[in-house]
Amino acid sequence: MRGSANVQGNSKSSEEGRRPSSAPRAPSPRERGEGEDVAIVGGGIIGICVATLLAEAGRRVTIFDRTGICEETSSGNAAAFAFSDVLPLAHKGMIKQLPKWLADPLGPLSIPPAYLPKLLPWLIRFWRAGNSRHYETSLAAQAGMMRLAEAEWMGLLDRSGTRPMLREDGSLELYESEAEFRASLSGWAARERFDIGFRHVEGEEMAALQPGLAPRFVKGTFVPSWKTVADPKLLGKAVWAYAERLGARFEHARIDRVEAGADGAAVMLADGTTRKAKQLVIAAGAWSHLLARNLGDRIPLETERGYNTTLPVSAFDVKRQLIFSGHGFVITPLETGLRVGGAVELGGIERPPNYARSKAMLEKAKRFLPGLDPSGGIEWMGFRPSLPDSLPVIGRARTPNVFYAFGHGHLGLTQAVATGRLIRDLVLGQTPPLDLKPFRPQRF
Ligand SMILES: Cc1cc2nc3c(=O)[nH]c(=O)nc-3n(C[C@H](O)[C@H](O)[C@H](O)COP(=O)(O)OP(=O)(O)OC[C@H]3O[C@@H](n4cnc5c(N)ncnc54)[C@H](O)[C@@H]3O)c2cc1C
Repeated sequence: MRGSANVQGNSKSSEEGRRPSSAPRAPSPRERGEGEDVAIVGGGIIGICVATLLAEAGRRVTIFDRTGICEETSSGNAAAFAFSDVLPLAHKGMIKQLPKWLADPLGPLSIPPAYLPKLLPWLIRFWRAGNSRHYETSLAAQAGMMRLAEAEWMGLLDRSGTRPMLREDGSLELYESEAEFRASLSGWAARERFDIGFRHVEGEEMAALQPGLAPRFVKGTFVPSWKTVADPKLLGKAVWAYAERLGARFEHARIDRVEAGADGAAVMLADGTTRKAKQLVIAAGAWSHLLARNLGDRIPLETERGYNTTLPVSAFDVKRQLIFSGHGFVITPLETGLRVGGAVELGGIERPPNYARSKAMLEKAKRFLPGLDPSGGIEWMGFRPSLPDSLPVIGRARTPNVFYAFGHGHLGLTQAVATGRLIRDLVLGQTPPLDLKPFRPQRF
């Protein structure tokens, strides 16, 4: 039930905003205590994009989050709109690399031994997702999702006035040997099938794309259409400011439990109060499965923890995102700093961070860009919410009036507005522009 003081919020609905101040007015549905149209758990980039698209469609929406808007994983990521990143993680090339990567405790992939027994069922599904039939299905689904993702983001950047935060300078992936370059070719061929443009470069052309690279890099691939944003946290907050102007609201609260049925949904707050809504969206990132379990859905969500260090802007003049796939990290020039990081640690949601991983990537970055000043950085860890087939869960829960929007892994920033569009269509009872079968929550 709405009714306690902390549900009032400070934003006005768009209708209230248009009302002449002297005119008498009827109490709004919020003031009548009728509850929201839609409650969303999670104020990361996925939750706020779902909220924004629903607010644009005239729905009364409240986001519930225990920290704030884009304060967790969505705040510190590598800032890429990775629209050309269509390859599912579980593919043969990657599975072949696993033994080498696992041998280095601070390398691109690590699994704390104590967590292995809990992780095993997820790993088995991940392994199976790499077989060619599953792989092709995931690849086609991801390519369709990415086309929608690009169109939806460009539209929202314009509508929300945030397009100046977009950087369109492409990416440069780098290889240390002919063998590493040749191993990448099948992936590029797969991308070519989906009309993704790229150019292999070397010598002067490569040096012009990024001056100051160490000579160990013999070849590169330039992807001109790759985009990044000025800062993912600032972008998220700017999109949210637009949603608030449309009437979307935020409530600072930890949600302990959710319930739903034919007549609506309820979220139970840690302070013991309850809020009601007609419909509920779970967009709680790496913690979403815990709430889905309340509703009888068991979804194999794990987290791929990632690390980085954000250096001062002056650390090095990086021209575009640099990708070191063989080492599992990237360097992104942001408006607010130079971000060095990536890596995957399959270590669950409880274990404290191991910032030795951030330091290991920074040391490598210094070797790869010898002029880089590694001082003055801020270390960070985030929880990528990941399903074993590298596709998010987007669809209806088993219970009526509940929708799931989580599990975007490495691509949550990229796919946030497309997810918002798909969930909006489901909430409004409209036909989504994509076949949602590969993304359905019941696929496991
Ligand atoms: C190192 C790293 C680099 C990355 N780089 C990129 C990139 O370049 N491009 C890209 O597209 N993606 C990237 N990602 C992935 C991307 O950051 C994530 O996919 C995305 O942020 C997930 O967003 P989300 O909204 O689902 O989750 P989150 O941002 O984690 O938001 C979930 C929110 O739910 C809240 N919550 C959870 N449970 C509850 C509860 N019970 N009650 C109240 N609130 C709750 C949390 O407080 C949190 O604020 C990267 C990730 C990492 C770690």
